[in-house]
Amino acid sequence: MRILVSGAGMAGLAAGINLGATGNDVTIVERAGHLRVNGSPVDVRGDALGIARSMGILEQIHARRVTMTERAQFIDASGDVVAELPVSEISDSDQDIEIPREDLAHVLHEALTGTTSLIFAESIAELHDDGAGVEVTFTSGKRDRFDLVVGADGLHSLTRRLTFGPECDFLKHLGFYVALTELPSQQDSGRTSPFLSWPGHLIGIAHYNDTALGVLNFRSDWIEYDYRDLDAQKRILLDAFAGHEEWRVPEILDAVRSDPELYFDSVSQIHMPTWHKGRVVLVGDAAHCASNLSGRGASLAITGTWLLAQALLKHPENLKAAFDEYEHSQRPYVTRAQDSAGPGGDLLMPATQQALDERNERLRAMTRG
Ligand SMILES: Cc1cc2nc3c(=O)[nH]c(=O)nc-3n(C[C@H](O)[C@H](O)[C@H](O)COP(=O)(O)OP(=O)(O)OC[C@H]3O[C@@H](n4cnc5c(N)ncnc54)[C@H](O)[C@@H]3O)c2cc1C
Repeated sequence: MRILVSGAGMAGLAAGINLGATGNDVTIVERAGHLRVNGSPVDVRGDALGIARSMGILEQIHARRVTMTERAQFIDASGDVVAELPVSEISDSDQDIEIPREDLAHVLHEALTGTTSLIFAESIAELHDDGAGVEVTFTSGKRDRFDLVVGADGLHSLTRRLTFGPECDFLKHLGFYVALTELPSQQDSGRTSPFLSWPGHLIGIAHYNDTALGVLNFRSDWIEYDYRDLDAQKRILLDAFAGHEEWRVPEILDAVRSDPELYFDSVSQIHMPTWHKGRVVLVGDAAHCASNLSGRGASLAITGTWLLAQALLKHPENLKAAFDEYEHSQRPYVTRAQDSAGPGGDLLMPATQQALDERNERLRAMTRG
């Protein structure tokens, strides 16, 4: 089959590998001019590990693993540690692999074979599914026809909007925003990751390898803005943390101001009754974002694209049967991941000072005990 994949994030690249390996001719289009490699380390866990082995990438993932979560510490305004986050609060298995998002993107990218081509600075403008194929017009003006279109274009998926309807029909905002910004090279590339909190806010520095990543989280109702407008993102973020001069907050906010690749988004989930319509199917965050609080976005991208490719291999003449099988086998992973995201926000960003003090006391008791 000729397959178009929209988006070259974790899901798009994994789709390129898995659909290419099962005999398809795959084209990936990525809106950005390059692989978007920023972000904090992500987890590969559970059945995604076995699938990564089958994809031939487990060794490379292992080789680039990092351990950072065991040293996450909550600090006070002067930098003294008030509580530590035990690894059991983040990971449910010591088999889980934490890998910088950048490294996972490169591992996946390097695993693409000649059956898959990747085009940067290109995006779908329009698509028309006539039952026998999908006519696609690209933003560059080029046109092409595909047997199948796979939407792997993330939380704010264009493929989903064009095929299934507006984002607001499927998006559930969990009440938080998250931002990540790389800090200039540090004199103190520490082994711990300190986080300062005050009610509804968390700001800190995650250290891994030679990288120091500024992490900012805050509670907020849904904010209406153009999610692609970097200046608007920075304004919202700087407003949320305005008036705080303690610890290294000013330094992190300076990094936000000057970051051309700032990652900022709502902490949200996507809930859809079905991930396919005609010859269009969604994978990864586009279909079922579980939010960064689940720690399972990359794993879901790997399992989902593998299951989709296997289902298409099994039902080459019957797309509907293949899509139903893909959904049936991927859905339990998604439900588990989406359910697991619930308590994370309250742990990281208690809403009141009392809840914050109780959180710290609970963590201290766990560390002692
Ligand atoms: C820059 C960035 C940083 C991230 N950092 C973290 C993090 O630190 N922690 C975490 O848990 N999760 C993070 N995520 C989300 C995480 O990558 C996903 O939850 C998970 O890996 C599933 O990946 P995905 O490929 O479905 O979505 P994404 O990783 O969001 O990838 C979607 C891709 O599609 C591209 N795209 C979007 N629209 C179009 C379009 N119209 N046409 C073509 N391409 C398009 C995007 O540029 C992006 O490359 C980040 C995502 C991005 C984009």
